[in-house]
Amino acid sequence: MWTAIIAFIVVFAIGMGIRYLVNKGRKGAPRGGTITIKPQINIGQNNAAPPPPAAKSAFCPNCGTKLDSDSAFCGNCGARIG
Ligand SMILES: [Zn+2]
Repeated sequence: MWTAIIAFIVVFAIGMGIRYLVNKGRKGAPRGGTITIKPQINIGQNNAAPPPPAAKSAFCPNCGTKLDSDSAFCGNCGARIG
């Protein structure tokens, strides 16, 4: 149990140490060394596109009834949409 936690902490610490050294090397890069910056790869992060913007006038501004996307008048109260 504890060994797993300690191993995780050690791996994490090593990772942070490497990161620190890499950042330090980048800041003090002498004579424009050949540093290739790899694009970040987010594993396990689904790049779900944001939902499309909702159609305008989805609800009647007068009575709040849900409307069809193309309706010009509210089917409930008859208020003009748009
Ligand atoms: Zn209405």
